[in-house]
Amino acid sequence: MPAMAGASARMMRAAFFEGYQCITVRDAPLPEPASGEVRLKIRYCGICGSDVTCYKTGALAGPDVILGHELSAAVDHDPAGVWGPGRRVTVFPSGIGCGECVWCREEKYRFCLNPPDRVHGGGFAEYMTAPARNLIAIPDDLDDRTAAGAEPLGVALRGVELASPKPGDLAYVSGLGSIGLYTVSALVAAGCRVLGADPREERRTLGLELGCDDAFDPTVRDPLSTAVAADPHGPRVAFECAGVPESLQQVFEACGPEGVVGILGIPMAPVFLLRMTLKEERAFSIRGPTRESMRRALDLMRERPEISRVMTRAVPLEQANDAFARLAAGDGGIKVLLQPGG
Ligand SMILES: [Zn+2]
Ligand SMILES: [Zn+2]
Repeated sequence: MPAMAGASARMMRAAFFEGYQCITVRDAPLPEPASGEVRLKIRYCGICGSDVTCYKTGALAGPDVILGHELSAAVDHDPAGVWGPGRRVTVFPSGIGCGECVWCREEKYRFCLNPPDRVHGGGFAEYMTAPARNLIAIPDDLDDRTAAGAEPLGVALRGVELASPKPGDLAYVSGLGSIGLYTVSALVAAGCRVLGADPREERRTLGLELGCDDAFDPTVRDPLSTAVAADPHGPRVAFECAGVPESLQQVFEACGPEGVVGILGIPMAPVFLLRMTLKEERAFSIRGPTRESMRRALDLMRERPEISRVMTRAVPLEQANDAFARLAAGDGGIKVLLQPGG
C-alpha cells in the first residue's frame, strides 16, 4: 500500500459562503455518503435569489457553508447500488429530517421536529451527498444546463398551483428575474393571461418571449390602473417575485378584490397590509417545491424549450465570488449557473 494512501483523503473544490459578501473557493474533503445516501458529481448549480440574499446580508445561512440547491448532477457513487454511476439526476432539496416525526411522515422534512445533526453541503462544489430518496431522474432528452432549473421552476409551479387560477384569469407578476420568469411560464401553462412588471427592458423582453400578454415598467406605468385596464376585476392572482419590499407593497395594491397574492421573493422589510384587508386578499408564501412539482417542471421544460432562455450565463466555480458580487449589484444576468470543472 502506498505510504500516503491513508493520510491523503480525496479532495474536491468547493465554494464556501464565509459570511457577509464573501465566498471563497477552496479544497475540501470529498464527502462520503452515509447510509441511504449517494454521492453526486455536480454538472450545474444555479444561483438562487435566496443565495444572493445570504451573500448581500450575511443572514439566512452559514457562516462557512456550501450553498446551492438548484442543480443537475451525475451519480458518482451509490453504496446501495440502486442508482448506477453516471445516472443524470436533480435533487429535491427537502432537508434531511428524522424520518419519524409528524412532519417527516408527511414527507415535509423541512419542518422536522428533531432534525439530525448531519448537514449536507450544497451544489456549489464538485461533489455533494444527498439522500437517495431525494433524487429525481432527468429525462434523456433534457440537457443538464436546463435541468438545473427544475427546483426554481418547481417552486413557481407549486406557487401557481396554490394560488389556483382558472384558465383565462388575469395574473400579475412583479419582478421578471428568474423566479418571476419561471412563474410567468407556469401561469401561461395554466392558461392565464399574464401582466409582467420589471424596470429592466431585457427582462421585459424575455417575459414577452415566455408568454406575457404585456410587460411594463412599474416605475413608469401604474400597476393598478394597467391591470384594471386589462380586466376590470383586476388580477385574480398576483405574485411578488422581485424580493424587494416596494414590489410586495405594489402587489397588494395591484391585486384585484378577493385575489390571491403569492410571495415567492424574500422582501426583507415591513409592508403595510391595509389594501389586503380592504380588498379581502389572501396571501401565502412557500419555502420550496414539492417532489411532484419538480417532476412537472422537468416535463414543462421539455414541452417549452423557450424556458431554457431564463438561464443566461454559466461561469466556472472558481469565479463564484465574482458571479455573486455582480448579481448582488444587479447586473450579473438572470439565472446564473456555477459550473464545477467548467
Ligand atoms: Zn432557490
Ligand atoms: Zn422529523
